[in-house]
Amino acid sequence: MQTVSIVKYTKSSDSLKQAIVLCNGFADLKATDKVLIKPNLVAWDELFPPAPYGVFTTTRLVEDLVILLKEFGCNDITIGEGSVEIKKGVGTMAAFKGLGYYELVSKYGVKLVDFNESNAEKCAIDDTIHLMIAREALQSDFVIDFPVLKTHGQTRISLGLKNLKGCLKLASKKLCHHPELNLEYCFPFVADYVKPKLTIIDGIYALEKGALHFGNAYKKDIIIASTDILAADMVGAKVMGYDPTDITHFVTYARRHKKSLSLQDYEIKGEKLEDHIQPLKWDWSWTEDNTGPGVFAKMGVTGVALPKYDDTLCSGCSPIANMCNILVLSAFKGQPLPKIEILNGKKMQARAGYDKTILLGNCIIKANKNNPNIKEPVEVKGCPPNFEDVVKTLKDCGLEVNEMAYLGYMKQQSEKYNGKEGYDPSYYTA
Ligand code: SF4
Repeated sequence: MQTVSIVKYTKSSDSLKQAIVLCNGFADLKATDKVLIKPNLVAWDELFPPAPYGVFTTTRLVEDLVILLKEFGCNDITIGEGSVEIKKGVGTMAAFKGLGYYELVSKYGVKLVDFNESNAEKCAIDDTIHLMIAREALQSDFVIDFPVLKTHGQTRISLGLKNLKGCLKLASKKLCHHPELNLEYCFPFVADYVKPKLTIIDGIYALEKGALHFGNAYKKDIIIASTDILAADMVGAKVMGYDPTDITHFVTYARRHKKSLSLQDYEIKGEKLEDHIQPLKWDWSWTEDNTGPGVFAKMGVTGVALPKYDDTLCSGCSPIANMCNILVLSAFKGQPLPKIEILNGKKMQARAGYDKTILLGNCIIKANKNNPNIKEPVEVKGCPPNFEDVVKTLKDCGLEVNEMAYLGYMKQQSEKYNGKEGYDPSYYTA
């Protein structure tokens, strides 16, 4: 029977040690092993650094883990991630820098690797599709998957299986959001190749409606660990109020590996699971006629339609979609807005009844090439398109959007926990 540990986090590194001991997490570790730690450092934004709580693996726990590995005798320790570049050139190394990882290099001699720059190897999903996975993730002896306790707007929860998507090269990340493949079918294959020997879920903070800037973080103070990635994820999901059978990527992974999705088939050591369940929402409400986020209906926004993102929207275009929601709101002055539909992702289809259809990004342009519902297509090319082009297009189409409203909103999101009790930025420094 696979074991999962749940440990209450106190400020000392003993908490992590206890979580690892309880699940016998270092049973397969050798002092000579090439160790790879894969934290979750989704993306970085220099202008508006995301409030880190529940978004990033805490640097505190990563440092505690490095100390435990060093005590064990390990000297070949690498921390690897492939963060999304919201702005060109601002990716993994910027996240490492912003979250104190350079200090881990000088203090402990760990190496930092940007998987976006790594050589990669072809790993097959089936006879026709393959994923390119960073070589360091494939060639390490002991991979430690180190996600955060969070929900996700497409996959409901984002834990160990989802965190390994960061080992993929960019083109493969995009492939996972393919319109004919299922996102939650694709990315669990990364675990088949990377084979993490230990999964540790950082639950110092948990994130509801997880995204980079927009979720709500809660202090939770737990650590979940297991040598079995699915077992750790199932307990993490349950803690956030989700039954493992409701998570599609658990189902696809469990089916392939002939594993049980019943928690009764796993041993839980440490804290009682029931004592830590706190349901967290994953989804955003949308208007009934799918014309925009719930707030559109509340404020009476009409005219413009922004259908809800789907699972083909990849991380490059996701910030653009969020920005459009806020910009459209900024253009609303109580009167109906021009009849414009704004589409994103890879498979949305334009609906009839709009004077213009704005197509954000190369994928959605292609998907609507011959759509007879479109009166006047307005293409914003790019993969992803750039912010300035999007703003200009909205204005050219007659929407009086205010970029300052967007910038102000982002600033407010970036600073929303500043000075609030329980939100301690020192968790993200070494
Ligand atoms: S255009 Fe957007 S949705 Fe399409 S692959 Fe590029 S970033 Fe992803």
